Amino acid sequence: MFAIVDIETTGGNPMYAGITEICAIITDGNKVVQVYETLLKPGYPIPRNITALTGISQAMTDNAPVFAEIAAQLHHLLHDKIFVAHNVNFDLGFIQNEFSKAGFSFHPPKLCTVKLCRKAFPGRCSYSLGNICSELGIVIQNRHRAGGDAFATGEMFHKCLNQLGHAEVLKMAKSTQRKIAVPPALNEDEINNLPDAAGVYFFKGQKGEILYTGKANNIQKRVRQHFDVKRGKTALQLERIHKIDYQLCGNELLSLLTEAHVIHTHWPEWNVSGKHVGSRYAIYRFPTQSGYLRLQTEKFRKGSLSGIPFPRFRDAKQTLSRMLHEHDICPVLARNCGQCHVRGCYCETLTEESLATHNKRVEEAIMSLQEHKNRILVKGEGRKTGEKAVILIENGAVAGWGFTEEHRPEKELVSCIEPKPDIPETRAIIAGFLRQAKSENKNPYQIISLN
Ligand SMILES: [Zn+2]
Repeated sequence: MFAIVDIETTGGNPMYAGITEICAIITDGNKVVQVYETLLKPGYPIPRNITALTGISQAMTDNAPVFAEIAAQLHHLLHDKIFVAHNVNFDLGFIQNEFSKAGFSFHPPKLCTVKLCRKAFPGRCSYSLGNICSELGIVIQNRHRAGGDAFATGEMFHKCLNQLGHAEVLKMAKSTQRKIAVPPALNEDEINNLPDAAGVYFFKGQKGEILYTGKANNIQKRVRQHFDVKRGKTALQLERIHKIDYQLCGNELLSLLTEAHVIHTHWPEWNVSGKHVGSRYAIYRFPTQSGYLRLQTEKFRKGSLSGIPFPRFRDAKQTLSRMLHEHDICPVLARNCGQCHVRGCYCETLTEESLATHNKRVEEAIMSLQEHKNRILVKGEGRKTGEKAVILIENGAVAGWGFTEEHRPEKELVSCIEPKPDIPETRAIIAGFLRQAKSENKNPYQIISLN
């Protein structure tokens, strides 16, 4: 089956322009079986010269859907067809870009009618849509509207099919999917059927044991990257992979937590050999002999509740510097390093008073990082529409998570939580998340304080 597609846009580059209209004509090569056509709100202003060319004005698209709203339906229609267009890379590029933004991967085989016409009707001076149609006696109704151009392209495509034959035309279809090395125990369909959604995936061995787990915003895309031939040597032993499983998580944060949890409980062979699991860092405070509180970044100690965890050493170090600066803490007393260059610093004379000042400021700095103590719920996207994911955090530890119906009242949310063990990895992830959430004003998660 073929999908003859034409789009109208606000400009030539998908990075800086949007789609104003799309038409897809589904044909089996003999007859048209379905037509899909709609105006779209492009998300970019429509330049006047474009309106003059296409007749599509800003006002006409104001009440049209945005691409994301039609993405699922359009993907369902197009994903298993050969994508046909006049200068196919233009239309396909725009549509792939929009699908990608909407969270769909879209890699259909493609076919360009410019190339087809060159082969079927050689020696013409121009293969532009207008010219080739008039040479072939095809009348374009509504030139430069998606429907008009798509129907003309469709008629031209059928003429090419008659001229070249079905088999020859199919041979000219090009794959847009990057080549992957499929594990010998699997077939490519199993990979193609993985969801375009956020979650964790598992490469499993012959006995069902987890060899590797990873998290992804788009599971299928990420798994394909593992097997991508062009990326060169894959670290994976493909012949040992007998099954690919996945678990949908709905959002990135829950994918991260689930991955950490799986690694912690299963110790998958390839994860463990690849990197040091659990080598997280934390800021600790402890008093020196003279009573001054010292702050130090160290490896996170398992089971320790006193440190403030960070996923990376750099994060811990940067936060520590910022704490000292923001709370006017003497760097020499706090870190025992170098000389103090702070003018009028309380460290000039070490008295009872400077001791009290110092320790008070250190405690305040720590408190300011830990204001997310106690019980918090984080609400994020669920695995499907109408569902939300909920994560319960108690005193900085991830107590558990679950999924719930979107409009469930806040006080009932805790009941959907499935308890999880407290591990340093999930503590570090959630600490990083809460710190970042504080500094971002556009946050896809909702943070609910329970006390
Ligand atoms: Zn000082």
